Amino acid sequence: MPTDAVAREALFRRIGERREELVALTRDLIRIPTVNPPGDAYTDCAELIGRRLAARGFQVEYVRGVGAAGDSDRYPRTNVVARIEGPRPGPCVHFNGHIDVVPAGEGWTVDPFAGVVKDGRVYGRGACDMKGGIAASIIAVEALLDEGLLPAGALEVSGTVDEESGGYGGVGHLAKLGYFSRPRVDHVIIPEPLNVDRVCIGHRGVWWAEIETRGRVAHGSMPFLGNCAVRHMGAVLHRIEEELIPRLAAKRTAMPVVPEGARQSTININAIHGGQREDHDGLPSPMVPDRCRMVIDRRYLIEEDPGEVRAEIVAILEDLRRNRAGFEYELREVLAFLPTMTDADAPVVRAVAAAIETVLGQPATQVVSPGTYDQKHVVRVGQLKDCIAYGPGILDLAHQPDEYVGIDDMVHSAQVMALSVLSLMNSR
Ligand SMILES: [Zn+2]
Repeated sequence: MPTDAVAREALFRRIGERREELVALTRDLIRIPTVNPPGDAYTDCAELIGRRLAARGFQVEYVRGVGAAGDSDRYPRTNVVARIEGPRPGPCVHFNGHIDVVPAGEGWTVDPFAGVVKDGRVYGRGACDMKGGIAASIIAVEALLDEGLLPAGALEVSGTVDEESGGYGGVGHLAKLGYFSRPRVDHVIIPEPLNVDRVCIGHRGVWWAEIETRGRVAHGSMPFLGNCAVRHMGAVLHRIEEELIPRLAAKRTAMPVVPEGARQSTININAIHGGQREDHDGLPSPMVPDRCRMVIDRRYLIEEDPGEVRAEIVAILEDLRRNRAGFEYELREVLAFLPTMTDADAPVVRAVAAAIETVLGQPATQVVSPGTYDQKHVVRVGQLKDCIAYGPGILDLAHQPDEYVGIDDMVHSAQVMALSVLSLMNSR
């Protein structure tokens, strides 16, 4: 099995020669507007990947996330899993990319679904997060096959749905069916946009909850006859502002989270609503609101106890219930994922870090993502620890207008991915 310099150079050259093909594939993927929500065109995108890999001898399966939130005949949650076996048994390396993208939103200077190429970059919604990464991984595995460098083991590529909305219909669904467990798979690389020179070993935890305060309606000119739910929520916000946010800022982590600002515990107020609806043209009527709802997004650290994360909020709410006249509340958990972090010296971490150093001529940086991604399902449901994110996109551009991926970065990341496979295949 040649891992020597000659084979490596041939592999790198092969990938370099396929630069235009890599750009074309990225553009083709961007042109399929797999917007989530609602989950448009998933089947078209899954089939583009499936057809391409079937032509290279992969066994291709389409697995629909039946029963997942949002799955319907109009918006089927179509995942694709492609696998090719080497002539001898050995480890399996799996590349997993999510095919869904967030809505384009405002502020674009180019068509978000045209795949515009300019200044050495491909622009479009999903270019960075993460169709550029999917394209790079496909070119990487094709180059390995072209060079006859799959003597043992297996390679898998999957295109999965709904990562942006929790991944339940995608990697979560496949993991439950055993697609992300041993003995089928040994190493997983997720080409999320964490920058071409960094290995992402995990993510912080997340806890989303909805708080509802209750009151009693009355005429707005006599608020003392009612009980204002919005003022109660104001009291909750005040406690979050004055007590919780400073306390969270003091909780620092040993996780190498990027950007630096996320190397602590955080809370975001995702949404707040109280009183009459605003989506009408007329004047409002004078009412004391009897309900106010707020959604909070709490991101926490591997050093924190998940129970404590909830208890901090409950303590504030219970204290208000005891001490604030007329205060009533309800707390509902919306979503929860534990923090995860792969060992710094796990095989996939070492292989990708070494490949980065070879390709880019500089040491790799280990990072942790501020937000979660599909690694949580691989680790928790699939019980597979040897999983990282590595891809060409620039983290800060994800979900932004004029999102792009650098073409040089895609080529380099494809070389890193291919070299990583070679060393993982030879590691046992
Ligand atoms: Zn992503």
